[in-house]
Amino acid sequence: MFGLFGKKEEPAGPSYAHVKIHPSVDGGVRKGSSDFKGGTLRCHCSSNPVEVQITGNVAHNHICGCSKCWKPKGTIFSQIAVCAKDNVKVTKNADKLTIVDPSAAIQRHACKDCGVHMFGRIENDGHPFYGLDFVHTELSNESGWNGAEFAAFVSSVIEQGTKPEAMEGIRGRLRELGLEPYDCLSPPLMDAIATHIAKSRGLL
Ligand SMILES: [Zn+2]
Ligand SMILES: [Zn+2]
Repeated sequence: MFGLFGKKEEPAGPSYAHVKIHPSVDGGVRKGSSDFKGGTLRCHCSSNPVEVQITGNVAHNHICGCSKCWKPKGTIFSQIAVCAKDNVKVTKNADKLTIVDPSAAIQRHACKDCGVHMFGRIENDGHPFYGLDFVHTELSNESGWNGAEFAAFVSSVIEQGTKPEAMEGIRGRLRELGLEPYDCLSPPLMDAIATHIAKSRGLL
């Protein structure tokens, strides 16, 4: 609908602004800057924090509802992105890092003292995402990181205690923020996984 002077009239649909998703997106999703050089992630320890230096920007940043990703206290979603593992370097207090679950496909290296996950690494070179590390850009003070692009594993928040009745508001808010909610990964990432499997079977 176009009103006077051709100005687009907003549809009077419900607003889900009161639904909290994650501190990094609740005030609107920030776009990254194309010339961003990277930054330093710090854990939550007030003294001797673990520091991880990331060179360059991240990709596929997204909101995640799975039970494995680290989340800030009181938040039901995490925000997680990937970058090349060669661009990730532990620069301080590496001795405080421990692997949360050594049997998991993604080895999440967390601070022993505060529990924050500093980076997740895939050691299996047959894994579709081998070569990529998973990181939380909110652990850095620098701005310019590529913001969230979609929401993954949204239905999984129910498994962790979110009421099913809350899902309409959660999906509504995600769409308001421009973060299409998926109950697995986004189509490009699901296609990348399927392509990897087809190639490993000699079908592509
Ligand atoms: Zn810590
Ligand atoms: Zn996750």
